[in-house]
Amino acid sequence: MKKLFIIMAIILGIMTGSELQAGNFFTSTEFDPVLISQESEIGIGKNTDQQLRQQYKVSMNEKLNQQINAIGQRLAARSNRNDLKYTFTVLDDELVNAFAAPGGYIYITTGILKKLKNNNEIAGVLGHEIGHVVHKHSLKALQRQMIAQFGLQLIASGLGDGGMSSTLILKASEISAGLLLLKNSRENELQADSEGVRIMYLAGFNPRAMIDIQKMLLGMSQGKDPPAIISTHPPSQERITAIEQAIKNMKK
Ligand SMILES: [Zn+2]
Repeated sequence: MKKLFIIMAIILGIMTGSELQAGNFFTSTEFDPVLISQESEIGIGKNTDQQLRQQYKVSMNEKLNQQINAIGQRLAARSNRNDLKYTFTVLDDELVNAFAAPGGYIYITTGILKKLKNNNEIAGVLGHEIGHVVHKHSLKALQRQMIAQFGLQLIASGLGDGGMSSTLILKASEISAGLLLLKNSRENELQADSEGVRIMYLAGFNPRAMIDIQKMLLGMSQGKDPPAIISTHPPSQERITAIEQAIKNMKK
């Protein structure tokens, strides 16, 4: 009965949510429970990862992959979802971008790595992406999209018990891969930054690097050819102010 209530609430949330009209599913609402089990989330992540590996060229630079993975694991160990197995993949792509799929699959491009000055800045980007995983942002977006698309059929398939069929997981992964290129909401970005600052601080990185990244991206957003990351993770003065405040709170 409780499960039915939660499902009804999610459907109602989708029907009344203005983000649906805007075509943006990346908005967390106050009441936004995730029904997809961690087991199914990992299955979706694994399939999404396979699709992305066909879509993009994965960097063969072993040393670079190790460096990124070491930084990522150090951060992930401090996260509020450190029971997940995280993977950090470098994509050999000129696009300046980074993104997180469900289940702890995180990607960073060689394009953005060229713009980052040191390990603290790399940790700033990875920490933010881990924040998206911790708050299940792409998973929530996927769930909304799936309920909107499949409705009752999805509920009948036992989503709440985590018993998603392999066909449904495959379908979910296709949707999930498409959602990775959509714009994150302002709320999601602030949440991911806040978790990013927290884990950077705990893992011994300088969280102020996050401010430097925001400033760099703001500068680039005014240019002629704004990078991909501006559309997936929009930078703003509001984010800089919130990051500064989060750093102050950590040091108290
Ligand atoms: Zn983001």
